[in-house]
Amino acid sequence: MYDFSKEDPAIWDAIADEQHRQDNVIELIASENIASKAVRAAQGSVLTNKYAVGYPEKRVYTGNEAIDKIDKIAKQRAEELFHAPYANVHPHSGSQANQAVYAAFLEPGDKILAMSEHAGGHFTHGQKNNFSGQLYESHFYGVDPETELLDYDKIREIALEVKPKLLIAGASAYSHIIDWHKFREIADEVGAIFMVDMAHIAGLVAADLHPNPMEVADVVTSTTHKTLRGPRGGLILAKEKYAELLDTAVFPISQSGALEHVIAAKAIALGEALTPEFHQYAVQIVKNAQAMANVFKRDEKIRLVSGGTENHEMTLDLNATGLTGHQAAELLYSVGIATNKELLPLEKGDTMEGIRVGTPTITSRQFDESDAEITAEIISDVLNHPNDDQLLHDAAAQVKALIESHPITR
Ligand code: PLP
Repeated sequence: MYDFSKEDPAIWDAIADEQHRQDNVIELIASENIASKAVRAAQGSVLTNKYAVGYPEKRVYTGNEAIDKIDKIAKQRAEELFHAPYANVHPHSGSQANQAVYAAFLEPGDKILAMSEHAGGHFTHGQKNNFSGQLYESHFYGVDPETELLDYDKIREIALEVKPKLLIAGASAYSHIIDWHKFREIADEVGAIFMVDMAHIAGLVAADLHPNPMEVADVVTSTTHKTLRGPRGGLILAKEKYAELLDTAVFPISQSGALEHVIAAKAIALGEALTPEFHQYAVQIVKNAQAMANVFKRDEKIRLVSGGTENHEMTLDLNATGLTGHQAAELLYSVGIATNKELLPLEKGDTMEGIRVGTPTITSRQFDESDAEITAEIISDVLNHPNDDQLLHDAAAQVKALIESHPITR
């Protein structure tokens, strides 16, 4: 990176601090990852200087010859990777991708049906503290109280009652394969548009480890920075017939200038995701998550929500430890392990009685199953003995050893 320590020491030093933090933490926040040096270089390139309002060959300003090439490559790669007839790589974020889809298909006041936040849904799927819950009439489905898995019969029942205009599948904290076909059937039965937000699992879909929602969904949104391992950003995929509607919903309805430095970085990440190495990486993400889950299953106080994982993440119910999610996350962070507090499907209030644990970043650091198991054992020890100073000290030393043997090389 260009050394600007003299021009702006405050920002230079803060970035150095963040680099140091990332190097020295076992990062288990399921939505984070380590983008490659090429992705990061593109984001810091001269492309940030260029105003690119509109789409290739139909720009508002002159001078977009190189920009248009980049933009088209990113779009083509997204279409190739996800077998999508149409992709739009312009959304600045996952939230903006969702916003554009709603703008395309809904009028204010229309009904949407999505997964509840307690069950693992995202707040841009209709929560009242978000534009989606303020502009549209939102309804929610949860998970089965016994299995903590999606109950498609129940979702169907709710859909028949609500009659949503848009049915949304996809989650931020759900650790199992989602049956897109069952959702499609429900959407058809009630005459709804079917949208999938695959932000969390996009990398697993790219690697063919999870079914591709494009097979049946009308429209699919995603972020590019989670398991997909690209720059922070969003994208939309859809059936060809929605191309014009969605293009307009992104620009001019919800965005102005495209972030072409980010689109170039998305193109690079999408290219990386098309390689056999990425496939191996995605396979390892799941193996590492399952290795961690097996350790938690043996713990008498930590309860693994839904009893297992089929993707990159899992939620731990901490009620028997006496710790809230916030306390547990802070405690783990004190020994060098980053997680986040999480709502539990059956939690009555909104304390956040659990934590979410994910493996995309440690897998980018070359952790294998035995490293993942050791990490889970440290978590288990710490959460079972929150007041044992010697144990916490030893845990921090174990974390340090793991980190030092897995330096970030990307
Ligand atoms: N959709 C899902 C399922 C997510 O988990 C997230 C982020 O956590 C988003 C959308 C929003 O993405 P962004 O933070 O890029 O707006």
